[in-house]
Amino acid sequence: MKIAIGSDHGGVELKAFLAKELASSASVFDKGPEGRESCDYPDYAAAVAKEVASGSVDFGVLICRSGIGMAMAANRFQNVRAAMCATTEAATLTRQHNGANVLCLGADTVSAVYALEIVKAFVATPVDMDERHARRRWKLERAERLSDCSGLMRDDPEVFAAIEAQTRQEDAEINLIASENTSSRACREAAGSVLMNKYAEGYPGKRWYSGCLPVDAAEELARRRACALFGADHANVQPHCGSAANMAVYFATIKPGDTIMSMSLDQGGHLSHGSSVNFSGKIYNIVPYTVDPQTEMLDYDAMERQAMEVRPKILLTGASAYPRTIDFSRIREICDKCGAIMMVDMAHIAGLVAGGAHPSPVPYADFVTTTTHKTLGGPRGGMVLCKEKWAKALDSAVFPGMQGGPLENIIAAKAVVFREWMCEAKKGYAQQVVKNCAVMCKTVQDRGYRIVSGGTDNHLFLVDVKKSKGITGKEAAAALDAAGIIVNKNTIPFDTESPFKTSGIRVGTASATTRGMKEPEMIRIGTWIADVLDNIADESVQARVKAEAAKLVAGFPVP
Ligand SMILES: *Cc1c(COP(=O)(O)O)cnc(C)c1O
Repeated sequence: MKIAIGSDHGGVELKAFLAKELASSASVFDKGPEGRESCDYPDYAAAVAKEVASGSVDFGVLICRSGIGMAMAANRFQNVRAAMCATTEAATLTRQHNGANVLCLGADTVSAVYALEIVKAFVATPVDMDERHARRRWKLERAERLSDCSGLMRDDPEVFAAIEAQTRQEDAEINLIASENTSSRACREAAGSVLMNKYAEGYPGKRWYSGCLPVDAAEELARRRACALFGADHANVQPHCGSAANMAVYFATIKPGDTIMSMSLDQGGHLSHGSSVNFSGKIYNIVPYTVDPQTEMLDYDAMERQAMEVRPKILLTGASAYPRTIDFSRIREICDKCGAIMMVDMAHIAGLVAGGAHPSPVPYADFVTTTTHKTLGGPRGGMVLCKEKWAKALDSAVFPGMQGGPLENIIAAKAVVFREWMCEAKKGYAQQVVKNCAVMCKTVQDRGYRIVSGGTDNHLFLVDVKKSKGITGKEAAAALDAAGIIVNKNTIPFDTESPFKTSGIRVGTASATTRGMKEPEMIRIGTWIADVLDNIADESVQARVKAEAAKLVAGFPVP
């Protein structure tokens, strides 16, 4: 057992006594002070609280004259639950019920001998795992989801209101937006950190500003972890978003007017792959490929024939609304034959690739671009991975080519999420996302809905609501929204409706899986989707589903 102990000048003697007495049964780390000179209790509370918050000790003991100031100071730290106790009974109860891990004692309130008894009772009592106590302890942590930013309640109540509204919305809805996920608290802490204060034009070790050692460390971690996680030669973690990551590859490799062969937006591609309203479509000569009209899947032979004719400088694959596995080794063959640079945009599937639930493009592609906020579940941002021979060209394309200072706080949050993917806790998540998607898709399909390409291999599926029920994607998404189920309208291949109405909806399972939902919940949600769409104008069905959905999500808290 490891115990960190600290006090102020009013508690030094009791501290010395307890440290000596406890040394026979525990490793005791005395965090000071040594003498009786007047000192500030928050300094010593912080020293002990840091040991507990980081997990380097099991318990903390803090002593001042009342014990109260110490408790206040220690409780400012995440994962610290400090309790002031004057009796052994209170120490036992606060361990059992509150899971307290720091004991605060008042040197004026208890004798040294009794204080030792209190400490012994505290460290000997296990936390009660009974459901009601666990639930209440969870609510203690839960309040922190808003206490993250509780300073804003006073400093800027209007912004606080927006954050609170988003928090409530996340709590209440079933989010099936395929391009979204829910970030971890650790990720949000890094994103909101002081690293945002630093200008750092350039790259680690080669900056245009002084004072970059701390941000160099963060960016180096992000680059190294990205390369380790995906098995890449080189990573540039600076692009502000996925579109910027794509821009960086174009700028690093080709000239205005050169040809890019890519999947068009209405087939499932992305805006930044050459849409006429986007910079990509304005600067480059875009030749779109489509899916096979019958199977609605990629036809690699057709792609090869087209590429041999077009001879694009870049052959770009990856999509925002393609529910099937992409065969990257076959695309490598095509690129080698037609002499194109192989570029894969894995924005949607990056988490599946990281978790081994989709084949990786990294061994094959010259460049792999991604966002870090979709299935990957990190902060809103972009990244490019490339082969060593492109590293220099890529880095100069990002800076000074297209950006000034990078967002080092966001880069730190990217590093956090890359590490999460390498931890045990994430094992099986990507596979569960895919399993969940297959089950929900089948549930909707079995109710008579046509699924684009007949099914799904990844985290999303597309429902052809027009063919199935004669309604538009816009109507379907609005009805589901009213029922507390959030999806988006989406064009389907060869759509006959305008992009504003569309014939389809896109449904994804990354966020629901992050909340811990599994197959039984997917069946219920799929059933609700069909219930609402079967009765598109019936508000009572929407109200019933909304109430049932709210009950379901209450059991699956947002992290
Ligand atoms: C989401 C996405 C992007 C980039 O999105 P940003 O909003 O610019 O971060 C790029 N490519 C694909 C395929 C996407 O789905």
